[in-house]
Amino acid sequence: MNHDVIVLGAGLAGLAAARDLAAGGADVLVVEARDRVGGRVEQTELPDGRLLQLGGEVVGRAHTAYTTLAAELGLTLTPSYVAEPGALTRATPEGVSAGDPPHWFGPGDDTCHRKVTDAFCALARTVDPDDPWAHPDATALDRLSVGDWLRAEGATPAVVRLWEIGQLALADGSYERTSLLAALRKHAAVPVPGPDHYDYEAWEGLRVAEGSATVALRMAAALGGRVRTGSPVEAVTIRRPGPCTVRLAGGETLTAGAVVSALPVGPLRSVTVTGVSEERLASLHRQRHALAAKFVAAYDRPFWRDRGRSGLSECEGVLGSTWPQNDGILSALVPPERLAVLLGTPTPLRTGELLAEIARLYGEEAHRPLATHIRMWGTDPWTQGYVTQWTPGDVTAVGPRHGTHEPPFYVCGSDQWVAGYMEGAVRTGRDAAREALRRG
Ligand SMILES: Cc1cc2nc3c(=O)[nH]c(=O)nc-3n(C[C@H](O)[C@H](O)[C@H](O)COP(=O)(O)OP(=O)(O)OC[C@H]3O[C@@H](n4cnc5c(N)ncnc54)[C@H](O)[C@@H]3O)c2cc1C
Repeated sequence: MNHDVIVLGAGLAGLAAARDLAAGGADVLVVEARDRVGGRVEQTELPDGRLLQLGGEVVGRAHTAYTTLAAELGLTLTPSYVAEPGALTRATPEGVSAGDPPHWFGPGDDTCHRKVTDAFCALARTVDPDDPWAHPDATALDRLSVGDWLRAEGATPAVVRLWEIGQLALADGSYERTSLLAALRKHAAVPVPGPDHYDYEAWEGLRVAEGSATVALRMAAALGGRVRTGSPVEAVTIRRPGPCTVRLAGGETLTAGAVVSALPVGPLRSVTVTGVSEERLASLHRQRHALAAKFVAAYDRPFWRDRGRSGLSECEGVLGSTWPQNDGILSALVPPERLAVLLGTPTPLRTGELLAEIARLYGEEAHRPLATHIRMWGTDPWTQGYVTQWTPGDVTAVGPRHGTHEPPFYVCGSDQWVAGYMEGAVRTGRDAAREALRRG
């Protein structure tokens, strides 16, 4: 059957694109490999009705594409864990502490931290997030890791450690293997008046009260039969003039006037794409992901509050962080640097060992959850990662084709924005639909 547009992937990006294409009068079909929609947003329900988010969860006040879409879908934005009272916890092999300064800081470290933070924010103001390649020092800034830049700026080892624990708490790749230009671009994408190099309020201050995966479910419900699950794409052929073809596993071939790829960069590498320039494909295939896992433990109450803790932590265990998802539900991330340790842990031991890390933060009640989930996104065949990772040199290698289209082949997905996130998925999905409609 012939369609105006076939969208590959029913994550937030693909669904947002399809929703706008359908609203613009296009005959659109979404093909999705899994038996469910949502991709990296996924939720499950406890017997008591509480929802557990197993993937993307929070957004920031500056994430306007996502917050606009949530409002259009009639969903409610509510303050996230960032508004939770109590102190941040930090855990390293030598100690656990609450609040600032971190327990490994000595005299002068705090002043040094402020100084390098100010320098980072000032440098970020010189980067155009939409065109970082235009920066006069783009190549040099891209070649440098954030860790090397910090040391060059005079950061003490204690300060570098603070930046690194914060980065791994987000489960991004180590700052020793992150391009400075990419980090500056991310900061510049969401300009914030705050004094920090990562503003939690701007990036993570809100969540959808009905559950973040409900955003995807609601879009899919409105699209109805225009979403086909259980349909992995194997090959795409772009023809000008059409028809373009999309071959599914099993051999069925669909035709369309245009194709929107909303696939993560890992799975996209396994799809044979012809009729698109070598340069466009090389840029897409050059992108990579930070691999991560998410752990969620549901309790009957937020027991961390008993110790005056907010539930937010930055850790040097297998877990890189914890934060409260909702009343009594604790989320945690395993960053890429530690995922191999989790993979090497026999499956029956994993939950107990992760709960022991939480107990070290908040007390013995951590060992008595009502339910737990480990979601291994890094090894999931349809994600192969977590969020976009920019190793030194990658911004230059991916180049200005990042996030651009080659009609009638359009690309979207969080990997096609500066730094991933649900904002990137929605923003690029809606942009791709606008562009495809504009070109008819
Ligand atoms: C554990 C975790 C926590 C996160 N936390 C946050 C957060 O708090 N805030 C935030 O903003 N972001 C967060 N993110 C990131 C955010 O969830 C993602 O960036 C975003 O949801 C990606 O949307 P997408 O549509 O671009 O890609 P995806 O959601 O990955 O969608 C791509 C779709 O393509 C499908 N697919 C893959 N291959 C094929 C194929 N060959 N054929 C057909 N279909 C295919 C996949 O099954 C998937 O459904 C998190 C991600 C993870 C994994």
